[in-house]
Amino acid sequence: MSKLFKRTKILATIGPSTNTAEMIEQIIMAGVNGCRLNCSHGSNEERDQQIKWIREAAAKKGRSVAILQDLQGPKIRLGVLKDNYLDLKVGDEVILESREFEHDGGLTLPVQYNLAEKVKEGEPIFMFDGKIKSEVIEIVSDTAVKVKIMNDGFVMSKKGLNLPETDFGGDILTPKDLSDIEYGAGCDYDYVSLSFVHSAEDILKLKQLLLSYGSTAKVIAKIETKQAISSDEILEEIVRASDGIMVARGDMAVEAGAEVVPMIQRRLIALCRKHAKLCIVATQMMASMVESPEPTRAEVSDVATAVVQGADVVMLSDETANGEYPLETVKEMKKVILYTQNHSKLAPIQRVSEEGEVYPAISNAAARLAEEIEADVIICQTASGVTAATMAGQRPNLPIVTVTSNKRVANQLALLYANSAFVRPYSEDFGFELAQELKASGYLRTKEGAKDLTAVIVSGDRDKIGTDTIKIRKI
Ligand code: ATP
Ligand code: MG
Ligand code: MG
Repeated sequence: MSKLFKRTKILATIGPSTNTAEMIEQIIMAGVNGCRLNCSHGSNEERDQQIKWIREAAAKKGRSVAILQDLQGPKIRLGVLKDNYLDLKVGDEVILESREFEHDGGLTLPVQYNLAEKVKEGEPIFMFDGKIKSEVIEIVSDTAVKVKIMNDGFVMSKKGLNLPETDFGGDILTPKDLSDIEYGAGCDYDYVSLSFVHSAEDILKLKQLLLSYGSTAKVIAKIETKQAISSDEILEEIVRASDGIMVARGDMAVEAGAEVVPMIQRRLIALCRKHAKLCIVATQMMASMVESPEPTRAEVSDVATAVVQGADVVMLSDETANGEYPLETVKEMKKVILYTQNHSKLAPIQRVSEEGEVYPAISNAAARLAEEIEADVIICQTASGVTAATMAGQRPNLPIVTVTSNKRVANQLALLYANSAFVRPYSEDFGFELAQELKASGYLRTKEGAKDLTAVIVSGDRDKIGTDTIKIRKI
């Protein structure tokens, strides 16, 4: 049975290629567990519509789906260019102007941030994911800087700029982020991710803001700056402060060099497992499928590697936002995940319980018990989701079915490793009842020739603190 359950989850970015009710339904049916809405592109109205479509599709499938609001953070982008496109040649001197104006096709480009306040002469500026390299040669006014282009190429509207050597001095939440946070708090988001996190402080500040607006969304730190990965301590502090992290490989490669990315990915997955935090591996996983119906061998291998390393989630960006084959990409990705998980086994980790923490110890015990008795499923009864999260942190090689009375929690759990979350009204035995229901509906199946399902049920008394019971039940 467990062979059919995809344990590593798929998060798909919604964009022009998937911007209809039908497409969203199709990719969810094909295996998407969460949708990412990027505040860098599109409008609030578009995102409101997309949220509605996602919720409708999820309800139709009868499964929880997570929705993630991705905040732009201090990402600096070009404005809109004439014809959305401009060729650049080595030696060109380009002015990056933050005052609003309409681009006429010349070498003065609109940029969404006042660089003149931050950059110094001699600092590098990379454009369009590093495809164009340039260097600051002059601060020409209060609002504009001049750069010299170092290679031939082109740029497009709204593409990002990276300034790995520039000091932005602390506060990374921009006015745009603040308004996106306030607006988003009133929307049905399960997660909020923040781009270009520099330190744990950034995350604590975001959490505080969300709390002040009454949001129950969990917070994801996108790891992509040189500062965030500058030491193991900073990285671990960010992981601890967040509910999860995204290995944002695109910007990280531009900021810190592509060669650092694979080792940071391994380190981050390990840190997330240690602290039972959500880990998303993102960017270019199936990049060639933007234009081609088949992935390259290297891409298949990249997805498989993330699965073998124990990531909770693999993400699609351009492939589903902008690509020609969004549905095919999801199907390919699911195939790779299923094959890989069924031919590899994740070693359990021995999580350290801090100061008498019960959760890690209980989940350790439940995972080992389930394996030893060859259980078919682990059932978690949870109110806050912590029981299910620590269970997922064990990376058991069998499905975790979670039941909660809280819809938000169920949607959040949709991204966790091996977790399928269901919303049911609370009762003391609602895990067992759900398992009976799922067996009757054919969702959970017995081993060949067996009459009963063996379930390990992890639960707690709702009025006491935390999880305190592991039961073995035949269903
Ligand atoms: P980030 O660094 O946060 O990933 P990004 O610009 O790379 O930002 P993605 O969300 O990864 O953005 O999406 C990839 C590309 O798909 C974008 O650069 C953009 O061209 C396109 N795209 C994504 N979402 C939208 C949208 N809502 N409307 C228009 N284009 C979009
Ligand atoms: Mg990024
Ligand atoms: Mg991207």
